[in-house]
Amino acid sequence: MQLRYNYRVHPDTAQREALARSFGCARVVFNDGLRARQAARENGEKYLSDGELSKQVITQAKDTPERAWLGEVSSVVLQQALADLNVAYRNFFASITSKRKGRKVSPPRFRSRKDNRQAIRFTKNSRFKVLDNGRLRLPKIGDVPVRWSRSLPAEPSSVTIIKDAAGRYFASFVVQTTEDEPLPPVESEVGIDLGLTHFALLSDGTKVAAPRFLRRAARKLKRLQQDLSRKTKGSNRRKKAVVKVARAHARVADTRRDWQHKLSTAIIRDNQAVYVEDLCVVGLGRTRLAKSVHDAGWSQFVGMLAYKAARYGRVFGRVDRFFPSTRMCSDCGRINEKMDLSVRSWVCPCGSTHDRDHNAAKNLLAAGRADNLNDRGAQIRPARVLAPRSEAVIHPDAACSTRSVEGISVLESGENVKARRPRPWWRPGPRRRSPGSPDRGGWPARW
Ligand SMILES: [Zn+2]
Repeated sequence: MQLRYNYRVHPDTAQREALARSFGCARVVFNDGLRARQAARENGEKYLSDGELSKQVITQAKDTPERAWLGEVSSVVLQQALADLNVAYRNFFASITSKRKGRKVSPPRFRSRKDNRQAIRFTKNSRFKVLDNGRLRLPKIGDVPVRWSRSLPAEPSSVTIIKDAAGRYFASFVVQTTEDEPLPPVESEVGIDLGLTHFALLSDGTKVAAPRFLRRAARKLKRLQQDLSRKTKGSNRRKKAVVKVARAHARVADTRRDWQHKLSTAIIRDNQAVYVEDLCVVGLGRTRLAKSVHDAGWSQFVGMLAYKAARYGRVFGRVDRFFPSTRMCSDCGRINEKMDLSVRSWVCPCGSTHDRDHNAAKNLLAAGRADNLNDRGAQIRPARVLAPRSEAVIHPDAACSTRSVEGISVLESGENVKARRPRPWWRPGPRRRSPGSPDRGGWPARW
């Protein structure tokens, strides 16, 4: 199984400059390749093969005065940038010819110097090396200090160096683990209903409250965003404000991921089989619940469950998203009328009373078990799980989420977990925050 191990790295000033140069060259090669293919298409020529393209935009380009500086960086970095372009094209073609499932993939886009996340990849034949003194030797960059928060289980096959929007550097190693580490088998199996009122509700009745990290940090983010919006475009102060906003967002994301790791590990450790609903997160993300949905981060969590299950010898199953887990009665199997989100508990004509989410979790467990028994014969070992793609350079979401931190809007209203009803006349309106108390988020009356 391929796993990713991420570590913070602390390059010094010279190494940062070298990294910046590599990021830049990788971007130029990527863009040159994209431009060449676009030109070929406009001129009605054939699709440039990977080999031809590499010769054109790397080998031959190095001999021209305009691109001679490509020789200053590791050629593996350049080849990997082109490899990203090739994969992006292949995904796009597979998507338009419907060979690829999931949502449509758009054609590759140009990378920008202003992208807030920059990354380069070194493969084994670039001869990167983890030295005995704990530093990471990168060709044409130097020996970069790494904060080894845990040890690598095996020799890595590649390393991606990432600079994120908050200006932090990371090394993301891909490691092929030779064998899985099965945990001692346990009896219990669990169905999980992911929701907004609770983050997760397990079929054994355990409720995991939604931590809502983004909401909790909302006030700080709002203030930083306001600071940012007052800075003149192109100014140095604006750049600093951008980093501040990015750093605050990064903190939210880190906290969320950390929390999800703990929860998913606990669930996998305590259960032999885990079944979840295959949610359409992209679809939900377009509704008015969008912010809460993104704040929950279900897909990241489900991804963690999937790879941890594969790694620790547990069964993981997704239940079809059109399975009526909510309106089916877990006692008699009757499928009832659709329910509004605000209905938290209901009574089935058979007489049993259900908590909405707990009922759904029980149904998911039953459906997952049935699915799993059906294809047990066909599939003895759990499917191969690739390293989570979150760090890969061409992840479709990475492109949009990092394109512009300045564009992250913090103040979006008009969504609520419960269906919104008009406020009755006798209820007081939302309390106004009094001005003059900046510590509570209000403006000082005079300043
Ligand atoms: Zn019933």
